[in-house]
Parts: sequence; structure tokens; C-alpha cells
Amino acid sequence: MFQSSKVHQAGRTLTTVMIKYDLVCRKDHRFEGWFASSSAYDDEAGKGRVTCPVCNSKKIAKAPMAPAVKGGDMPSPAEMRNALVKLRRHVESNAEHVGDRFADEARAIHHGDADDRPIYGEATAEDSKALKEEGIAVTPIPWIPLGDA
Ligand SMILES: [Zn+2]
Repeated sequence: MFQSSKVHQAGRTLTTVMIKYDLVCRKDHRFEGWFASSSAYDDEAGKGRVTCPVCNSKKIAKAPMAPAVKGGDMPSPAEMRNALVKLRRHVESNAEHVGDRFADEARAIHHGDADDRPIYGEATAEDSKALKEEGIAVTPIPWIPLGDA
């Protein structure tokens, strides 16, 4: 159902990825935060710069992983598409696109060799796996094409 954009480049399949945390405030509002690394999250949260978009609470914690299959009503395809378009716009306006340098850039940020900032870009499945093993949490984004409704 989710359509990740896949780019074929020099025989490699690249998927758009970025670093995302599911966060929850003490009133149980769930939202997503975009951070370059787990230390970036700790730093921002420690300075009280992470706030709940619903109630402005600064009591934020990382949420447990959402279950893959939720009960209840499934969103309609149109709702799903809207949500994905919003996600894409959110990422594009909040994170820097680093293209296929994603893996290198994520490592540089992780090690403090580059400015700490949200980034997104394309990575191979091997890159994503390697990054995860190095403690850098990346998440594939269902990257919906715009303007083909
Ligand atoms: Zn809240």
C-alpha cells in the first residue's frame, strides 16, 4: 500500500530515508520528530526545545514503536494520499536534501563532523542496514509523487 520512491542509479536501488523518532508528550499526544541522530534528540529535548505540537508540553519521551497493524478504521486511499503528501511537504520544508550522500552525511553528523540538522536523502538497503548497526536510526519514507492526482 505504501509506495516508497525508488531511484535506480548505477544499478543500485535507492530509497528515500531520514532519521525519525516517534515522540509522545505526557498527555499522550503522539507526533514525529526529525533529528540527525539520537544525541541530537537528547540535546534538543534536554534544552526544552522539543515541544508537543498539540499542547506545547515540553515533557516529551520517545514513544514505543507503533504496532504495524492497527485496529479500527482504515484510512481511505484519498486520506492516505493526503497524509503522504503532507509528510513529504513536512520533510521537504524541515530537512535538508542530501541526495545519495545520505549515508556519509548521517555518519558525519553522528560523529560531530558536520552540522547537526535534519537531513533526508537516498540510501541503499545495505547503507540503511549499516547505519542502523552503527546506532544511527534511519527510516524509509513513503515518498509520494506530487502532482499526479
Ligand atoms: Zn501534548
